[in-house]
Amino acid sequence: MRLGKVYLVGAGPGDPGLLTVRGLELLRRAQVIVFDRLVNPVLLEEVSSGALRIFAGKQAGRHCIAQSEINQVLIDHARLGYEVVRLKGGDPFVFGRGGEEVEALADVGIPFEIVPGVSSAMAVPAYAGIPLTHRKYSSSFAVVTGHKAQQERATIEWAKVAAAVDTLVVLMGLKNLAQITDELLSHGVAPETSIAVVSRGTTKDQETIVGTIADIVDKAAGIESPAVIVIGRVVELQQRLNWFALG
Ligand code: SAH
Repeated sequence: MRLGKVYLVGAGPGDPGLLTVRGLELLRRAQVIVFDRLVNPVLLEEVSSGALRIFAGKQAGRHCIAQSEINQVLIDHARLGYEVVRLKGGDPFVFGRGGEEVEALADVGIPFEIVPGVSSAMAVPAYAGIPLTHRKYSSSFAVVTGHKAQQERATIEWAKVAAAVDTLVVLMGLKNLAQITDELLSHGVAPETSIAVVSRGTTKDQETIVGTIADIVDKAAGIESPAVIVIGRVVELQQRLNWFALG
């Protein structure tokens, strides 16, 4: 039997308009679609009614399907000859485990293609009016995970990261916000450093909280995930550049 193919497609961070043209084309012709929790359900309306839909959502600490099972689902359906779209929030290769999925496919000789997506790391700050670089305030940025389980595996050296770049973007960091700010403070980052927490970015529920390293934990209490954290002087531009709230 002819092998199918797996397309790893980035769905963007929420706003359906941020799906790429290539992603939309593949979504419309997919025979099988395997999607994540962070994918906007509106995008699934583009999938043909005859396609098989498989939810592979994961929630922090609570795994619906193990990664190895997701890999197997992709492999099995491609072996049946199907065109499989693996739709992931944001970009598949930015904290999306896309690398692991294509490794599994490559190991067994399943053809695949990567369709990059608009990552929340860039789009969410943008919708909140925060440029990651700016000629006056920032000539570098880094994107790191604030997820504890991942920190245990490969400890983020917060002091070094914070010293190395002008703008720091933290994904999966909301739960550990207090720990992250403590870490930064204890390594000499100034307490008045600007920080923003942008929740449910690029959706109608987007919410931005701006503060300093010293007061953000109190200010952001009760804010919903998913959220992107941005640290650095560019955050100061937020109030002037926040077009999204203006509608
Ligand atoms: N591959 C994704 C990231 C997956 S990790 C991407 O490129 O965007 C999941 C983290 O992404 C969340 O914990 C949060 O930090 C961030 N995130 C994803 N969508 C978001 C959104 N709409 N608003 C705010 N943060 C978001």
